[in-house]
Amino acid sequence: MAKRTFLKRFLKNFKNKNDSLVSSLPKVRGVLLFNEPLSKKNWFGVGGAADVYFEPADIDDLKTMILNLKSVPITLLGAGSNVLIRDGGIPGVTIKLGKAFSKIEVVEDDKLIVKAGALVMDVSRVAQKNSISGFEFLCGIPGSLGGGIRMNAGAYGSSLFDVLEKLTVLTKEGHIKEFQKDELLDAFSYRCCHLPSDWIFLEAVLKGKKETDNQLITERMNLNKQKRDAGQPKGVRTAGSTFKNPQGLSAWQLIEKSGMKNAKVGGAVVSDKHANFLINTGKATAKDIETLGEKIRQVVLEKEGVSLEWEVKKLGVEDE
Ligand SMILES: Cc1cc2nc3c(=O)[nH]c(=O)nc-3n(C[C@H](O)[C@H](O)[C@H](O)COP(=O)(O)OP(=O)(O)OC[C@H]3O[C@@H](n4cnc5c(N)ncnc54)[C@H](O)[C@@H]3O)c2cc1C
Repeated sequence: MAKRTFLKRFLKNFKNKNDSLVSSLPKVRGVLLFNEPLSKKNWFGVGGAADVYFEPADIDDLKTMILNLKSVPITLLGAGSNVLIRDGGIPGVTIKLGKAFSKIEVVEDDKLIVKAGALVMDVSRVAQKNSISGFEFLCGIPGSLGGGIRMNAGAYGSSLFDVLEKLTVLTKEGHIKEFQKDELLDAFSYRCCHLPSDWIFLEAVLKGKKETDNQLITERMNLNKQKRDAGQPKGVRTAGSTFKNPQGLSAWQLIEKSGMKNAKVGGAVVSDKHANFLINTGKATAKDIETLGEKIRQVVLEKEGVSLEWEVKKLGVEDE
């Protein structure tokens, strides 16, 4: 009985809270869902629902949506491999560039035109097949191109900016802008993109090097995979490295030295294989993971004198 009353109240609140949002939405052709759970759409497997979840059918559809959302918050979601979605969910409209934005095309022998929803692992596979080197570092990174650009994702000394030649974005005002690499030199740094946070990345031209065959590329990808398998936990709910490496230091070493390896809060634990990976053991809430992360930051600051910066992006609001 109590359960039914709670459900009724919840549905009533949801309706009231979102009536004006729902009625302000334009007619679109893509996937449009209300109160959509997001825990299956991120690697930690936690978090609440999106008030509105939208996968545009194409760029015009995307434009139609954002031009009609004057004061409604918009949040981009890629493959969800670097986000901690809070338990209260994401207010406003959450946009994911899905299948309609996943094309990868080889042009001019050594370049790839990649849509923002394509997985960077697929970029490395396509490049390998076509004997284009320079993308081997992407083979173990489970994100999309859009998320990868926002994070300037990288590994083994290379990052996405190194291979970026041209970037196409959509601004909040609905303008499509193109930038060549030399216009973006100040826009990227280690795991960071300084371009406006409300820009939506649509597509990039990535440039590698044409090789006569792909043997060396395959070897390098296999080596990267072996290194990952040896140093990182597999088959777990994680968002990879939680904190950025402070200049000249390793976040995982600082965490180990501070005695926080194997620390836990609720269902969230520090990986015993890689201390910079936090893991949802099954029943963690986003709050457990965030609390554990903050505890680590506090202890590392006290014991090692270093302030760790979150690499994982925290999205949404805490449970009321
Ligand atoms: C097992 C594992 C291993 C990992 N290894 C690495 C690694 O070696 N190197 C590394 O750098 N990272 C690593 N990561 C982290 C993660 O894969 C990368 O940061 C990845 O680039 C995130 O991409 P995503 O599509 O999942 O983005 P999300 O996690 O969905 O989003 C990340 C950020 O990008 C924004 N965003 C997403 N799409 C767009 C878009 N189209 N336009 C504008 N903004 C957008 C989001 O709003 C958010 O702020 C790892 C993660 C896991 C789980």
